[in-house]
Amino acid sequence: MSDTPSPAAVSMDAIVALAKRRGFIFQSSEIYGGFNGFFDYGPLGAELKKNIRDCWWDDMVRRRDDVVGLESSIIMHPKVWEASGHVAGFTDPLVDCKVSKQRYRADQLFFAAVRVEGIQVTQTTTETVVSTSDGEDRAKHSHTDFDLPPPIGYVSALESERTKEELQEKAELMKRKKAIQGKMLPLEMKDFTLATEAEYALIPSPATGEPGSLTAPRSFNMMFQTNVGAMTDASSVAYLRPETAQGMFVDFKNVVDTGRVKLPFGIAQIGKSFRNEITPRNFIFRSREFEQMEMEYFIHEDADWAKCHEEWITWCEAWLKSIGLPSSHLTRYSHPKEKLAFYSRGTVDIMFAYPFGVQELWGIAARGNYDLTQHANASGKPQEIFDEATKKKFVPHVIEPAVGVDRILLAVLCAGYAEEDVKDEKGNVEKRTVLRFSPRIAPVKVAVLPLIKNKPELVALAQKLYAKLKRRYAVFYDETGNIGKRYRRQDEIGTPWCVTIDFDTIEKPGETFTLRERDSMSQRRITEAELFQLLEEQVF
Ligand code: ATP
Repeated sequence: MSDTPSPAAVSMDAIVALAKRRGFIFQSSEIYGGFNGFFDYGPLGAELKKNIRDCWWDDMVRRRDDVVGLESSIIMHPKVWEASGHVAGFTDPLVDCKVSKQRYRADQLFFAAVRVEGIQVTQTTTETVVSTSDGEDRAKHSHTDFDLPPPIGYVSALESERTKEELQEKAELMKRKKAIQGKMLPLEMKDFTLATEAEYALIPSPATGEPGSLTAPRSFNMMFQTNVGAMTDASSVAYLRPETAQGMFVDFKNVVDTGRVKLPFGIAQIGKSFRNEITPRNFIFRSREFEQMEMEYFIHEDADWAKCHEEWITWCEAWLKSIGLPSSHLTRYSHPKEKLAFYSRGTVDIMFAYPFGVQELWGIAARGNYDLTQHANASGKPQEIFDEATKKKFVPHVIEPAVGVDRILLAVLCAGYAEEDVKDEKGNVEKRTVLRFSPRIAPVKVAVLPLIKNKPELVALAQKLYAKLKRRYAVFYDETGNIGKRYRRQDEIGTPWCVTIDFDTIEKPGETFTLRERDSMSQRRITEAELFQLLEEQVF
């Protein structure tokens, strides 16, 4: 793994445009103006997503002897979410702009005090009057940093790959506008959760650019509420699950009693989760309805949890590479001890270099036995396992790798996207857009192309091959347009191979086809048996 991946060079605009143009991802309810934080997956997106899910399920569940699958309900007893701590604590700090009515997550809203060397301080208790070069008193500030000159004002910006630069540009503009001489001190960027009460009124709203309209941060619970049954009152309140993990804890005993499992073992689940995110953004990276693939790996209370944790982090990294994510885009982030929940022993995130910054893709947490203990206490049903060796009962501990399907899908789109200059058959340079998907997840594995459509023998052979391939793989048949254009169309949707049925196929012995590879664009002849062999090896 590289130490510091830099964000992918591709622009999000290019990704979003391609996703729409080729039917990977659409805005939800687009004909009604869209619905913020919700997305639809089109024909190719649905295939790509299914392939990511299937690869994970095969590798995580079917190909392992120590992990079993589960599909729990999306709406569970509300007590589940009380016991898990979500009712009380699944909150984000929310800040409102009273003027624009915009809402921000306080930890994604950054600000900095702008300070200039040599600004005089005429009073330093809690309030400071700033005298500028033209002798005018510019502002009053409360501050306690007596070693620093008082701020000439504050700047703010939302989290992005350019937050620091944006703050710097705004600070320089402020200094110029206020005609303040002197050297500006380096900005100390903080997020809004670290603002003092006095600073709330001084930090400009990102929407208006003016201070005075931002509220103090307050906790906002991100669970979607609904009502179950005919009554709509407090007794009927239920929640759409904000994570799939609790299903594995609540069904732990059911699986132990019926699943022939022995420690250490895991329970895995893929399914939709819902979070009323304050600021859904970066396309499908943070949405309000998304899909998770989570696994709870239960271990003995005396097991070496750190070793097991490390093994799962390594497994997750290897899996991401197996579906085509390059190591150059992946790195690890260990959560500092002081920021962990009290029960957590350690959390490591696998980060991906998205175009908008290096962000969490997969979180791998060592959660002790917190969750099972919470449910045991709240339900009154012990969640213990009997240890034959020591003849003692205990509550197993857990390692939890949790990842979002949508975030993986966005990562493979960003990592795979390229625009290249290539030469056509006549030697003219043209642009090609290509998605370099791994064959494991590519929505279409092979395109079958008769060289020309008005030669019945070619078409008949092509149709025969297409029908055979289709029984096992997602295949595309295309006979329209010149062959170069057809190759480009497949490049743009990430099809790893095109098979062309041409005159050599019918005229030369051995019935071979032209196999054209997406990445190298090289061509070679291949028999049907060799084609199936290639697919068998590469699509697993
Ligand atoms: P973040 O800090 O980005 O909000 P998180 O730490 O709250 O994420 P977890 O609760 O650990 O995320 O969820 C596990 C995984 O689910 C994340 O690593 C991510 O891949 C995915 N995920 C979480 N929230 C969202 C979302 N709003 N949209 C898409 N995927 C999400």
